[in-house]
Amino acid sequence: MLRVTELRLPLDHPPEALEEALAERLGSRPFAWQLIRRGHDARNRRDIRLVYTVDAALDEAAEARALARGDPRIRPAPDMRYRYIARAPEGFAERPVVVGTGPCGLFAALLLAQMGFRPIILERGQPVRVRTRDTWGLWRRHELKPESNVQFGEGGAGTFSDGKLYSQIRDPLLHGRKVLTEFVKAGAPEEILYLAKPHIGTFRLVTVVENLRAEIEGLGGEYRFGTRLEELVLDPATRAVRGARLSDGSLLPCRFLILAPGHSARDTFAMLHALGVAMHAKPFSIGLRIEHPQSVIDAARFGRFARHPLLGAADYKLVHHASNGRSVYSFCMCPGGRVVAATSEEGQVVTNGMSQYSRAEFNANAALVVGVEPRDFGGEGPLAGIAFQRHWERLAFEAGGGAYRAPVQRVEDFLAGRPSTALGSVTASYKPGVTPTDLSRCLPDYAVAALREALPRFGRQIPGFDMPDAVLTGVETRTSSPLRIDRTDLCESPNTPGLFPAGEGAGYAGGILSAAVDGIRVAEAVACAMLGQELPPERRRHGVISEGWG
Ligand SMILES: Cc1cc2nc3c(=O)[nH]c(=O)nc-3n(C[C@H](O)[C@H](O)[C@H](O)COP(=O)(O)OP(=O)(O)OC[C@H]3O[C@@H](n4cnc5c(N)ncnc54)[C@H](O)[C@@H]3O)c2cc1C
Repeated sequence: MLRVTELRLPLDHPPEALEEALAERLGSRPFAWQLIRRGHDARNRRDIRLVYTVDAALDEAAEARALARGDPRIRPAPDMRYRYIARAPEGFAERPVVVGTGPCGLFAALLLAQMGFRPIILERGQPVRVRTRDTWGLWRRHELKPESNVQFGEGGAGTFSDGKLYSQIRDPLLHGRKVLTEFVKAGAPEEILYLAKPHIGTFRLVTVVENLRAEIEGLGGEYRFGTRLEELVLDPATRAVRGARLSDGSLLPCRFLILAPGHSARDTFAMLHALGVAMHAKPFSIGLRIEHPQSVIDAARFGRFARHPLLGAADYKLVHHASNGRSVYSFCMCPGGRVVAATSEEGQVVTNGMSQYSRAEFNANAALVVGVEPRDFGGEGPLAGIAFQRHWERLAFEAGGGAYRAPVQRVEDFLAGRPSTALGSVTASYKPGVTPTDLSRCLPDYAVAALREALPRFGRQIPGFDMPDAVLTGVETRTSSPLRIDRTDLCESPNTPGLFPAGEGAGYAGGILSAAVDGIRVAEAVACAMLGQELPPERRRHGVISEGWG
């Protein structure tokens, strides 16, 4: 099997043109082929090209001839099958505990279950259907449930999202492929296996998450919803994990615990810090959401091809290095979506974005964020970034006038340094409502200055980006975890044996795909540790996979 990359064809090419181009590149017609990737190159708006990667089967002689052409765009196809690293022997009694059912905990639990380890899964929030009602309760009725919301509950933070499944991870072991394959088995559209920028959208994610739960339970896993990890119980002499104290006061004995609590489990981080678990503050980003009519972005990016069915709603990715030394960048762009209320604590306003699979809503939105470092937090220790986030989230709540309304401002007013008193032609999509005001009250001065410098620059790249009526909504503070829980290359805490910190909250991933990949890697490490088996060097990892997803 050969992998052929960079097959570039016009947007409206006839279906047979791909096979023709493939045969021409290979020098003979393959007897079978499979689409591996389809992206597009829109750098020239007048001539947008589809760019394909295809695996093609030829007989041995034709394959050798194709390779002998010396074309770097033809090479042997990699084996994309996932290989399990361990298997629990029949009757293996010990059970690992997984905390959190976000993409990281979910895939850690799935892999452990598939390897025969029957994990016990603790989730402080509710099953995904109940959680959906609770989350909409904030958006529609101004009622926040601190344990069941956009951040907490089955499926984790990404459930009410755009469901973008791309990331910037280096993934030589193709764990990301395993994630996508499992998503498709659980009901995601097959196209996520080949689209360059796949997304699932909120409603489909809900079903996928339920189907993954059914598989884990079918393999002997056990879910406990509404159950928070309250405290780790450690061996007084060795500090090794001996159990988990749960929110109902009971003790769950365990020696292997994967901790995948997401970046909003502030109480959990405080508990771990009090126990002396090694961790440190880390950089993240804060800023605002910006909304434009999707038609403005489509026209700027795709010209006359705007709304072409193969292109869908256009996205963007922007970066500006400001003169005050700060970087401003767009983050979590949601084409045809809406801005959502994403707080998990009372008296705070936090923004994020989501969309449905169709991406058919009127506005495009993205976060515009500015990097912040531990030296900006104004405090010491691993939890300083949390205090910093809370400070700005509370100011945003106050500026919004309470009841979880968000503060908003027209771009023209933000740039001119005057409060907005009303919005113009662009409607804010944030629910449960907005208050026009001055957003510079809700962010540090350096962030405001950097954003004011960046907006006109972005307007030069995407005409209309700095249009006077574009809406800014504050504040976006939970772009990634404000801390990192240390771990070794066996994914274990260096000073708390048996604790395996994982995913976004522990500071090792950002986005659905990278969090899920981290979950798989940590599950592999735990499976080996439970069996007293060595984790092969190529499966070891303690570094960060990725902090961004587009
Ligand atoms: C609105 C929104 C839109 C997003 N859009 C995208 C997108 O389009 N694409 C993308 O790639 N990423 C997106 N993200 C980011 C993505 O969701 C996260 O990066 C990802 O979910 C992180 O996965 P995780 O498993 O590490 O943590 P999380 O998904 O945060 O899951 C952590 C889980 O742990 C549970 N938990 C926490 N503490 C405890 C405890 N003490 N005991 C028991 N359970 C606990 C929580 O309830 C939660 O379910 C979005 C996030 C949000 C909020």
